[in-house]
Amino acid sequence: MSIIQTTNVTKVYNPDTVPVHAVNGISLAFEKGEFSAIVGPSGCGKTTYLNLLGGLETPTKGAVHVDGQDISQLNSTELTDFRLHNIGFVFQAYNLIPVMSAYENVAFIMELQQFPLKSIEERVMELLEAMEIADKAHQRPNQLSGGQQQRVAVARALASRPKFILADEPTANLDSKATANLLDLMLKMNEKEETTFIFSTHDDRVMQRAKRLIKLEDGQIANETK
Ligand code: ADP
Ligand code: ADP
Repeated sequence: MSIIQTTNVTKVYNPDTVPVHAVNGISLAFEKGEFSAIVGPSGCGKTTYLNLLGGLETPTKGAVHVDGQDISQLNSTELTDFRLHNIGFVFQAYNLIPVMSAYENVAFIMELQQFPLKSIEERVMELLEAMEIADKAHQRPNQLSGGQQQRVAVARALASRPKFILADEPTANLDSKATANLLDLMLKMNEKEETTFIFSTHDDRVMQRAKRLIKLEDGQIANETK
């Protein structure tokens, strides 16, 4: 069984005024261990599709199944809990908590899930080392470069071994060196922990590293490669 599956999923914004068909009937399945890029021009529906996969938007039509469960049937409390336990999110603007250190930003998500303290300490240090940021564990986000902040954000997304990670334009604010470095580290974790990554991008160098490319156009699948 696929980890995530969308069936004819559709999102129309402002249906009663000026309807915007952001996602227009996308059916796709994602398997464990994928490293997949959603690509296409600005406005083609990448963010909306990722938000539907992550339960951040409710479909106007169609369904999103995670491990066979239709997440559009969950109420908002159930969805929040579902996201916390199943999905790691990475955003273009890093979205770290400014008053917390790198270590605390990663630990926090595990504390919310009430992991034992000992396992939190071990897992956070393991991930900060894997993401080559352990020497900055006690720095706050504003003391870190963009590339370093995004490595912390990926460590945070990986912390509780979610079923999959959704990353919306994770390298959009990074220079080419930091972009290549982040992709190396994401691929390393994809192989080492079999983490499933689904990310959007319009950077050619990022697309080249994807194991599967899904190109959108006007909210539909234009083509798929690899
Ligand atoms: P991409 O991520 O590929 O740039 P988006 O998913 O952000 O595409 O947007 C797809 C289309 O939906 C665009 O036309 C965008 O303007 C529109 N859109 C996105 N979010 C909203 C919203 N909250 N309300 C109205 N229109 C939106
Ligand atoms: P990206 O291309 O990186 O997806 P956008 O600028 O399209 O970024 O969108 C950034 C945010 O603004 C998204 O969360 C999206 O939902 C929202 N948004 C995009 N277009 C619109 C719109 N026309 N009306 C309202 N919100 C929008």
